[in-house]
Parts: sequence; C-alpha cells; structure tokens
Amino acid sequence: MDNRKVGVLGGGQLGRMLIEAANRINIQVNVLDASKSPAKQIAFHDGHIEGSFKDSAAVKELAQASDVLTVEIEHVDTQMLEEVSKQVPVEPSPKTLTIIKDKFRQKEHLIAHGVDVAESRDLEGDEEGLEGRLKEVGKSFGYPFMLKSKTEAYDGRGNFVVKSEGDIEAAKKALGGRPLYAERWAEFQMELAVMIVKTKDGVLSFPVVETIHEDSICKLTYAPPRNVSKETVARAQELAKKAIAAFEGKGVFGVEMFLLKDGKLLVNEIAPRPHNSGHYTIEACPVSQYAAHLSAILDLPIRQSDLRLITPAAIMLNILGGQTPDSHIKVAQKARELTSSWPHLYGKGDARPGRKMGHLVVTASSLAKAEAEIQPLIDFVDEQKG
Ligand code: ATP
Ligand code: MG
Ligand code: MG
Repeated sequence: MDNRKVGVLGGGQLGRMLIEAANRINIQVNVLDASKSPAKQIAFHDGHIEGSFKDSAAVKELAQASDVLTVEIEHVDTQMLEEVSKQVPVEPSPKTLTIIKDKFRQKEHLIAHGVDVAESRDLEGDEEGLEGRLKEVGKSFGYPFMLKSKTEAYDGRGNFVVKSEGDIEAAKKALGGRPLYAERWAEFQMELAVMIVKTKDGVLSFPVVETIHEDSICKLTYAPPRNVSKETVARAQELAKKAIAAFEGKGVFGVEMFLLKDGKLLVNEIAPRPHNSGHYTIEACPVSQYAAHLSAILDLPIRQSDLRLITPAAIMLNILGGQTPDSHIKVAQKARELTSSWPHLYGKGDARPGRKMGHLVVTASSLAKAEAEIQPLIDFVDEQKG
C-alpha cells in the first residue's frame, strides 16, 4: 500500500502493536531498541537498528534507514531529534515532544492555551530548601497533595502522595534529586481518557473511556464510561481535542483527564504516542489507534467515522506481572477459559510485579454483559495478587 519505511524509537509493546497494524498493509517498520525487544520479535527484515533510543548515533542510523521517524516513548533526546528532523520528518514534532516529556512544562503549555489542569507549584532546584517549600505547599494546597517528578515518569514511578506533613521526609527520600513539582489533589469521581488523532488536516477523536488505576498503574478501561452523561462525554472529547490542537505535529495522542466530583474536567497529562487507554481500539473500532497513528504520520486517508465504536461495549484489562515469572501466562490461559477474548501478550519474557506483560479486551452487546463476562477473570487476577 505504501513503500515508505517508518522508524520507531523504542521497541516495547506499543511499537509491537504498531507493527501489527503496519504488517497488515505491508509497511516496513524499523525499530531502534535491543535485539529481542517485543516489537522486533514480530518484524523480520534488515532495517532494524540495535542499540538504545537514547543514543544519538543510533538515532541517526535509524533516520538514514527510514522515511519518517516516530516514537513509542517520549523519554528521548529531543534536541537530537530536532537535528535529525532536518533530514527526515519526525512526528510528532521534536518541539512537541520536548514540551510533553516534561510534565510541568506540558502543564504550562496547556494553561497558556486555555486548557484546565490541576494547580501546580514548581519545586525544581535548591534541594536544601525543599523541605520548607514542601511544607508551604502543604499549607497552601492542603493534604493530601501529589509530589511529581517532571521527567522520566510512568506507571506512577515519579509520583508520591504526601498525606501529611509527616510524609515529607519519605517523599524527599523517594523523589529527591529529580526535578520536582507539586500538584493539588484532584477530588475526582472518575478518570477518563481519550485518544486524539492529529493529521495534516486537523484533529479527530476516538471515543471516551473510563480508566481505573491501581497503585498508579492502569488496570482497566471501559468504553463507554460507566454512568456518565452524554453531555460529559462530549465535553471530555472537546477538551481533549482542544488540548491536542495546542501542539504541533502529527500522530495519535493520549489525553488523561480527571472528572471532578462537581462535574468539572481537568487534563491530567498527555502522551504524544499510542497509549494504554487506546488498546481497546484494536477490537472495538474500525481503525485502531496504531493504524490511526500510521495514517496520521504517513498522510494516509482517515476520517472521524473510522474511529467509532463498532461494539456497544469494550472492557480492557491489563495483564500485569505478579509474584511468579509466569503469572501473566496463567492470566492469559484463564482469560481463554473464562472469556471470549483473545489475549495480547507482549513477549517480554519473565514477569516482574506490576510490569505490563499483556492485555485483553472483552467486547459485548452491553456494558453490563461485558462486566459480567470479565468479572470472574478480575477476581482471579486479584486473588493471584494476594
Ligand atoms: P502514566 O503511566 O499514565 O504516564 P504517570 O506515572 O505519568 O502515569 P500520572 O498520570 O501523573 O502518573 O498519575 C498516575 C495516577 O495517579 C493518575 O492516573 C491518578 O489516578 C493519580 N493522580 C495523579 N495526579 C493526581 C492528582 N493531582 N490528584 C489525585 N490523583 C492523582
Ligand atoms: Mg505519564
Ligand atoms: Mg498518567
């Protein structure tokens, strides 16, 4: 369908699922990562680059072998990507990646574009004065508040809930030395997420999902969200579109939001790439988030109607590593016994507690039916966790 080659920085599960979509239309995806990374396992050709996506020589090599570069992780050297973008297009743009990979800068950018976010306080620099400044934040925001690392944060690794002044010592121990900011606690009734597709022509939106996090890691997503009015869903979609319209470049973006108890919506954070909250689109939409990403960065045709739900309900369950190295295999086997879902396993080898090893999606004619089908599997997962 297209003989351009796509280069990807990072070869984890997102790169792997991007390749699944690319394989169907015969597009070659060159991966820069370690030799047996999840993405490389399913694409046999001579265009991969072995090395780290943080290594500039390797990125240049990838650029040489590719017609367009993209990322499956934002924690990359964006300055170097800026340089490389003079030779080959990088999507989304290095400028956008630079802003988004720093969660505090990302917030400032959103505020400047009229997007509501949780109130934040910069805490970077002056390690010695940190304790005093954390106490001031506690007085001003009240407890609990969230202490966050601006960079290199994912799956909650980079966040610390400061529940009282007595937690400040532990917070400093957990995150000291990293560039920090504090965030006012969001009293949310629910978390929502939307995948947005930014094309050369504008901004399209996938449906809104409800996300459930456990220990700061996404566990479940529900499409559509449970017990949320059409009006709120529409507002969430509009907010997500507005947030992503504020950035340059093409591709899919994940927008995480808080639906507060008073009905107000705040953007929590943005991911400039395919996102866990969009996995359900493989089973539940005509065009998945991965196919949409390829379409956007390659300027292939894509319409709003491609992004609709083709099933009344879809629930995604992450398969997280448990106490034993094969815990994810047991969950996948159980999923086949208990549900009609066909699981995704990422080829990461041995499980570690909390590591994302795979996921599955249950679709049904109603949310109630999907919930009834998946509940025994959730019970199994919770029992394993102990
Ligand atoms: P990801 O893996 O999504 O990139 P992350 O490590 O960047 O996660 P956040 O999205 O900042 O972390 O936070 C993880 C979770 O912690 C959120 O989904 C939410 O459940 C909770 N959380 C984060 N910030 C706040 C806040 N200000 N108030 C209340 N809860 C919060
Ligand atoms: Mg994040
Ligand atoms: Mg998050």
